[in-house]
Amino acid sequence: MATMRAAQVPKPGGDFQLVERPIPEPGRTQVRIKVEACGVCHSDVLVKQGLWQGLPYPRIPGHEVAGRIDAAGADVTQWQPGQRVGVGWHGGHCFTCEFCRRGDFILCRKEKITGIHFDGGYADYMIAPAEAVAAMPDELDAAEAAPLMCAGITVFNSLRNAGGRPGDLVVVQGIGGLGHLGIQYARQMGFRTIAVGRGADKEALARKLGASVYIDAAADNPAAAVQKLGGARIALATAPDSKGISAMVDVLAPGGKLLVVGATADPLNITPLQLILARKNVQGWPSGTAMDSEDTLNFSAQTGVRPMIEKYPLEKAAEAYEQMMSGRARFRAVLTM
Ligand SMILES: [Zn+2]
Ligand SMILES: [Zn+2]
Repeated sequence: MATMRAAQVPKPGGDFQLVERPIPEPGRTQVRIKVEACGVCHSDVLVKQGLWQGLPYPRIPGHEVAGRIDAAGADVTQWQPGQRVGVGWHGGHCFTCEFCRRGDFILCRKEKITGIHFDGGYADYMIAPAEAVAAMPDELDAAEAAPLMCAGITVFNSLRNAGGRPGDLVVVQGIGGLGHLGIQYARQMGFRTIAVGRGADKEALARKLGASVYIDAAADNPAAAVQKLGGARIALATAPDSKGISAMVDVLAPGGKLLVVGATADPLNITPLQLILARKNVQGWPSGTAMDSEDTLNFSAQTGVRPMIEKYPLEKAAEAYEQMMSGRARFRAVLTM
């Protein structure tokens, strides 16, 4: 039987193991993907540390997958072997729950998450439901496309659905894995883009990525600085720091929206009074469907938005994961096969 390499988590809290496993066969409605690159996302901690209830182990994590269709199940009509594709966080839906029947697949009550409900992309091959697959344009390198499947789509899709119009002022809080993409997307969507980070050393990069103004939150008060410019229509909070996210309510113009994508379990500290009189909104946003991923990839190919990445061979999955967890990765760690 033909085998493949995989970096699996043997048990909650266990170390990564590089193993040989049989190459899996796709079911009737699934495809097999020859993985070329897989991003290492902070959410992989859910698998590594066993934070997702009821997960079977060993499990292969990875939900920022770029590669090629290798085989397609008998009922798959839209994908052919050889096609370049990606798979992201949203790993499929049931088609029968209330939200699926309304076409809002990302809210599916039985949503499958790639690398959590089924094995992900830290491997030479993986199986994915056909509806979870996005076409990848030729202009994008696989290693650069991979982080767009979770980090990229999350900021792109949340921003484009937040109700802003070209010319509006958008604040991007955080200049990390999500934020360095958020600044680029905001700029390329035509927003007047302000970056908020910590430290003067981030200014040059923030401006290079497309920010017209940089605010050092360690030295200046972002609320005062942004209100002086008229206030923000949207504040995209990408750094998983509840204190920093909460402070973004006060950069908003009346009617503005605080868009939260930086994932943390710590509570926000926002008073009803901060929201009521100026009719401000706070909204969370999950990534998006495969079609949203495809839009993200195409927009990135057209506009030149690219992640900054550090590449690691699959054998060094543990090192890549440590680098990501430590916050030293600039800005996304990507495994290559
Ligand atoms: Zn992710
Ligand atoms: Zn459903």
